Amino acid sequence: MLTFEKLENRYHLTGTLELKQAMHIGSGDSDDAIDSLFVKDQGFRHYIPGSSFRGALRSNVERIIGSVIPNSSCCLDPESSLPCPSGNRTKQKKMNEYIAEPGREEKDICQKIVAELCQTCKVFGSPFLSSRVSIADLHPVNNGKPEGQKRFGVAIDRDTETAAQGLLFTYQVVEVGEKFDFELWAENMTDENWGVLGIGLVELLSGHFWIGGKKNASGLGQCQLLENSLRLEYFEGSTSLKKYLTEQKWPKQKSDNQVKQFITDKVQALLSLTAA
Ligand SMILES: [Zn+2]
Repeated sequence: MLTFEKLENRYHLTGTLELKQAMHIGSGDSDDAIDSLFVKDQGFRHYIPGSSFRGALRSNVERIIGSVIPNSSCCLDPESSLPCPSGNRTKQKKMNEYIAEPGREEKDICQKIVAELCQTCKVFGSPFLSSRVSIADLHPVNNGKPEGQKRFGVAIDRDTETAAQGLLFTYQVVEVGEKFDFELWAENMTDENWGVLGIGLVELLSGHFWIGGKKNASGLGQCQLLENSLRLEYFEGSTSLKKYLTEQKWPKQKSDNQVKQFITDKVQALLSLTAA
């Protein structure tokens, strides 16, 4: 895992996430009335785990990026033809052997990892590189406590892909319109990394974004990051970092549509780079 990079830049993006459809994120727990309860935090409030959210963001990027930039994502697919070792055991073994070779220098290891990892893994992480992006758990805005609602579902038989008779189950959703605080951190981002992340964020800002699965079957999990809630604080480069350290405030800030513009510009730059 690559962890010895110098800190070059840091971005803090916050905003409000609104549910456009009811959402279900199973906690793995049940009670007397409901088979699959929504996840709750220690204060017994429904929340969206940041790790689930980052996974959804990654999937959204993977679904799109390969169509606009050839060979940009291994999608963690073991069968991928790309050199990226993240999803393939044989390629992982080879990479580990390269790293373990006596006398191997850190800079060579770094170079090889950067050369072989696909664009998506460079942003969202891989067994060989930590993710540049982290997302905090999303808690209800204003200390709210959204109520969970009971829904009925039909279990699908995996073999026949038809409704399995008698397998009715209940699950808990948080209703449409509920809002959550969104907070994303990103470090050591290149313009290319930002372009990749930006593709997912553009979808999120458009509301063409689903989390928690079941999206096709039952119309669940669609959500949107609200443009007028956006705030981006950051520093880039050592002068800016010094200012950040000595003044204890972010040297650069953007809000609302300026943030959307920042993100769109990065996506456009990535796409034009690849078209050239
Ligand atoms: Zn990859």
